[in-house]
Amino acid sequence: MPELPEVETVRRGLEPAMQGARFIEVEVRRRDLRWPLPKDFARRLKGNTVTGLGRRAKYLLADLSSGDVLIMHLGMSGSFHVFHDATGNALGRYHRERAQHAAHDHVVFRMSSGAIVTFNDPRRFGSMKIVPRGKLDAEPLLEGLGPEPLGNAFDAAMLARACTGKRTSLKAALLDQRIVAGLGNIYVCEALHRARLSPKRPAATIATRSGAPNERAARLVEAIKAVLNDAIAAGGSSLRDHKRTDGELGMFQHRFRVYDREGENCPTPGCPGIVRRIVQNGRATFYCPSCQK
Ligand SMILES: [Zn+2]
Repeated sequence: MPELPEVETVRRGLEPAMQGARFIEVEVRRRDLRWPLPKDFARRLKGNTVTGLGRRAKYLLADLSSGDVLIMHLGMSGSFHVFHDATGNALGRYHRERAQHAAHDHVVFRMSSGAIVTFNDPRRFGSMKIVPRGKLDAEPLLEGLGPEPLGNAFDAAMLARACTGKRTSLKAALLDQRIVAGLGNIYVCEALHRARLSPKRPAATIATRSGAPNERAARLVEAIKAVLNDAIAAGGSSLRDHKRTDGELGMFQHRFRVYDREGENCPTPGCPGIVRRIVQNGRATFYCPSCQK
């Protein structure tokens, strides 16, 4: 399942192809995605310009000149592929690759930038939805999401407040999308290791009794931002399905410190620990029992 860095990598790949560009043609090859595409999907996009391409948690949000917003979600295995026209042979390349992937290219956008954008999703857990900008606040997909971890609203004071009195584990708290949006199993494990905090520690222990942040909260927020920024810079992590919009793989999986590294030496300098795998709330957790306290 792609997490925030993978979705942000996709957003950055789509931006030059879509932002400021008009939908010239919208081809819907399959409507039965995770939730079905509406009947008027193509009609509501065609002729409109993408005035901004943003991201909220794991959702891509394209603002349209019509006042609608196109919400796109990658699901488990969804990927966007951009074929650029700069070389003049985008169509040739598109048709060649299309022959290989046709079965899973469910949506195709032809943009006025000259780019062709395909949405490919073998498992069809991804989908798209169009909502009026004014109704975005009430959109069930986005409602109740916590702050963006790379935004200014996410700081030690906010995280401590959200964890105050919580008996759940620190790992479970960070996976809770109402506390902070967009984090998943991989980056929570990695952030906790960087912060040298045990995933089993009760969430409440990053706050004082009155809810003020302690030094652990500050360390954790810093680690979360750092690991996300590093992962975005590396193009995300390609474990199963994530690919950049140019078809290249992300590279951050080669830089995991603990995730999927059971039995390996802890990479913290001077730490003699061995990375251990445990199961918390049905999900694998990787951590170092020696330096993560
Ligand atoms: Zn260690």
